[in-house]
Amino acid sequence: MWGTKEGLDFLVSETLKARYLRKGERDWEDICERVAKAIAITEEEHLGFKDLMIRKIFLPSSPTLMNAGTEFGQFAACFVIPVEDGIEEIFDAIKTTALIQKTGGGTGFDFSQIRPDDSPSLCADGAASGPVAVMKLFNEATEIVKQFGRRRGANMGILNVSHNDIVYFIRAKHVEGELSNFNLSVLVPDTFMELVEADRVGEVWNKQTGMTVGCIFSEIVEGIWRNGEPGILFYDRINRDNFTPALGDISATNPCGEEPLLPFESCNLGSINVSFFVTDGKVNWDLLREVTGKAVRFLDNEIDKNTYPAPEIEAATKRTRKVGLGVMGFHDMLLKLGLPYDSSETLKLAEKIMEQISWAAVRESRKLAAEKEPFPEHENSTWELPMRNAALTAVAPTGTISILAGCSAGIEPVFSWVYRRTRTVGKEFMLVHPLFEAHFMSKLPEVDYNWLLEHVYKHGTLQNVENPKLVSEEEKRIFRSALDIDWKAHINVQAAFQRHCHAGISKTINMPDYAGKEDIKQALIYAWRQGLKGLTIYRTGSRQHVVLSLKKPE
Ligand code: UDP
Repeated sequence: MWGTKEGLDFLVSETLKARYLRKGERDWEDICERVAKAIAITEEEHLGFKDLMIRKIFLPSSPTLMNAGTEFGQFAACFVIPVEDGIEEIFDAIKTTALIQKTGGGTGFDFSQIRPDDSPSLCADGAASGPVAVMKLFNEATEIVKQFGRRRGANMGILNVSHNDIVYFIRAKHVEGELSNFNLSVLVPDTFMELVEADRVGEVWNKQTGMTVGCIFSEIVEGIWRNGEPGILFYDRINRDNFTPALGDISATNPCGEEPLLPFESCNLGSINVSFFVTDGKVNWDLLREVTGKAVRFLDNEIDKNTYPAPEIEAATKRTRKVGLGVMGFHDMLLKLGLPYDSSETLKLAEKIMEQISWAAVRESRKLAAEKEPFPEHENSTWELPMRNAALTAVAPTGTISILAGCSAGIEPVFSWVYRRTRTVGKEFMLVHPLFEAHFMSKLPEVDYNWLLEHVYKHGTLQNVENPKLVSEEEKRIFRSALDIDWKAHINVQAAFQRHCHAGISKTINMPDYAGKEDIKQALIYAWRQGLKGLTIYRTGSRQHVVLSLKKPE
């Protein structure tokens, strides 16, 4: 199906039907009314929230859209659940996980407390099972809960690089289909990365197993090269932004990595569509700050109105009152401003956006602290002035809400200007990016435009169009999509947003299929040096099942 408007409208209405419309609701406005009413405290807030949502300027994440104003009433997308080393503790954690996933939340776990595979057994005379075996139990539970929930549960499984089972863990997804409900991440400290960077790979990292730095690091690189797993999380960088160190270290994040959280904490997410703020080539910063303030109120209200899946989660969440406000539509914003994704102006803009949002969010949180109360652990935090929330900003993938908002996802570059989308709601769609369509349709005669669409669909890029009348050099610079952009530029954009972001950033660093293991090694070191909290790399074609795909070569 060609035709962007019809295609996108169809995709939105199918998504609404599959997930968000409740009994008696007909359209998006009905959903906005239900959600805004449930989250607002005053009538003024109700109207303000509804307006932001109807115009798709700010959207809360899926669990809020699905559950607000219903009998579930669970709003958070992100959870971290501790897993202690014992049968009872493991199955308690599985139960809590099931209750969370039933309501559409994603769960992250640090499995490092689980004793390794060959150590004295958990039960009297059986073999100890190790973290990977325990993860399989969680994976099965997610598989079953899927049938009850409205969206697939997602898990993040984390293991400290010092754990004896680290190599089993890194290889746990080598067979496609294994642990399919998990993303994996290795948690590494600065000391490990320093040895890697200095090429001191022969040093023994784990005295018990004798494993060297080089052996572990090359397993990580190999895994990423093969199928994009594991991801990596930088422990020291994450804990430098731990605003409540007195409550303990942070060693886990939610499934997509944007929310490092303490055990049992949950976090509500919401995203501002930044492309909305561009008019005639200018950014309306005042309006962006104003919308940020309203969005912070929205997310803060949710903490008090939420129905929590377990009492420990309610207690931990209300101690710090973290919320995750982020952005979507960043690449669309660049297109409207005529900026290439991989340019120095883009990095300046990225940094400014996050700085302005974080600044306005902190200001609003202070106002809320004065109106209501600061978060209870405020005295134990690194914030000097009273705040309502220990952390406020994070960039989520916005996988579904960006479809509803009709904008590019999170801070990702557009995947392709012309593509088919499969699996999201079980059907296949052919779509053209609206800003690409608007630009080239008005410039080119119909026959040339259609030729260009066919070309981009087939090749996944317009970089190799040789006729400058069809695509100029300037247009080639601006219309670069995810795979045309160098991995360093991907990391630079993530780093620019990370500089002023309280929590983390969800982003995929795309590499072409011919990228080598040396590229992956260099990218990991570079990302760590640039101050990222974590990194996910995906090399084209290294996994069979992907949601977005280009046409297969004929
Ligand atoms: N998430 C999940 N299952 C999914 C997708 C997302 O549990 O299938 C959780 C996960 O914690 C993720 C967060 O929701 O990091 C936000 O994801 P995203 O922004 O893509 O969600 P949306 O609100 O767009 O549905």
